[in-house]
Amino acid sequence: MKIATKVVHGGQKPDPSTGAIITPIYQTSTYVLECVGKDKGFDYSRTNTPTRRVLEGLLADIESGKDATAFGSGLAAIDALMHSLDHGDHVLACDDLYGGTSRLFSQIFSKHGLEFDFVDMSEEREIREHLKENTKMVFVESPTNPMLKMIDIRMVSEIIEGRGISFVVDNTFMTPYYQKPLELGADTVIHSLTKFLSGHNDVVGGAVISNDEDIIEAMKFMVKAVGATLGPFDAWLTIRGIKTLALRMERINENSLKIAKFLEEHPKVDRVVYPGLPSHPQYELAKRQMTGFGGIITFESKGGYESAVKCIESLKLWSFAESLGGVESLITHPVTMTHTDVSEEERKKLGITEGLMRLSVGIEDVGDLIDDLDQAMK
Ligand code: PLP
Repeated sequence: MKIATKVVHGGQKPDPSTGAIITPIYQTSTYVLECVGKDKGFDYSRTNTPTRRVLEGLLADIESGKDATAFGSGLAAIDALMHSLDHGDHVLACDDLYGGTSRLFSQIFSKHGLEFDFVDMSEEREIREHLKENTKMVFVESPTNPMLKMIDIRMVSEIIEGRGISFVVDNTFMTPYYQKPLELGADTVIHSLTKFLSGHNDVVGGAVISNDEDIIEAMKFMVKAVGATLGPFDAWLTIRGIKTLALRMERINENSLKIAKFLEEHPKVDRVVYPGLPSHPQYELAKRQMTGFGGIITFESKGGYESAVKCIESLKLWSFAESLGGVESLITHPVTMTHTDVSEEERKKLGITEGLMRLSVGIEDVGDLIDDLDQAMK
C-alpha cells in the first residue's frame, strides 16, 4: 500500500462496538473488568486508551515499524527513550539538534550518568572517530534543526552495524511521507507529533516507533511507569491530522521550493539553506534519501540582528511563533527562541547567527506568502 493510502487507513478499522468509521475519543480514565483477572485489553488510561492504541498502529504503519508508543510531547518521547540506557552508556548525537533535545541531553541526562558527544555527522570521519567502547546509541536529526544539514542514514547504519548500538532518527522534519529512516537502516524513529504529523498547531504530542522488540517493550513500560501519556483527545486530533498528511506535505513542499528560490534571488538576503536548492551542499544526498524536501527554510538577512527583527516585526501574514509543521506559516528567530540554551560558542560554530530566521511554510497561497516576505524585507 502506498503512503497516501496508509495515512488515511493505517491501523484503523471501524469501531468494533458501533461500526463508526472514525475512531471514537474514549474519554475515560479507567475500564471495568469482566471478572477477576479479565479485562478487555485496557485497564487504566495512563497505560493506554483505545484511541491512543489506534494512533500507535497508524504511526507504526506509516513509518514501517513494528510498533509505536505515543507520549505527551516529543521531548517526553525522547526522555522515555533515553531511560532505556544505563548509567555509563555513551550517546553519539549530531551537533545541530533541536535546542530542547540538546538541553535534555546536556542538562539532565548527563547529570544522571549518560555520556554525550555532539559531532558533525554529515562527516563520516567524525562518526568513526567518536564511537567508543561504551557507545550504546547514535541519535540524529536529518535534516538538522535549524541548519538543515543532512546526515546519510544508510551510511551511519552501515558504520555501526553489528556493534550493539541503537540507531535513532528524529524524523519530525521530513515525516514518513518524505523520508523512511527505518527502511534506511535505523532501529527507531522518534517524532514530535506536535509538528507536521498532527499538522494544525493544535496538539502537543510525541512518539517512539521501532523495529527493536527491546525498545518497544521498554517504551510500553516507560509510559506506564513514568506516565508521560498522550490523552485521548490529542490522540484523536493526531489521527485526524495524519489523514491529510500527503496533501499537506505536497502543498508545503511546493510552496517551500518557490519561497526558497525567491529568497535566494532577494537582494536583502545573505544566504538561504533549503535541501531542495541545488546550492545546498548536500543536495545530491537530499534527492537520494528523501522523496521531497519539506517545509523548513533557514535564511539570513543582510544586516544581522537589526534587520532580522525588523523583518519579523513587519510581517503581516507569517506569524512570529515557536513550533513548525502546521498549516499556518510561522517564522522563528532561533537565537532568541528555540536555541537560547545552546551556548554562544556552540551557536557560532554551527552558524546560528543573530540574523538567522527559520521559516515553517504552511499551506496558504504561495503568492501571498512571498508578497508578505517581500514587503517585510523591504
Ligand atoms: N524534535 C524536533 C526536531 C523538534 O523540532 C521538536 C520541537 O520543536 C521536538 C523534537 C520536541 O517536540 P515537542 O515540542 O513536541 O516536545
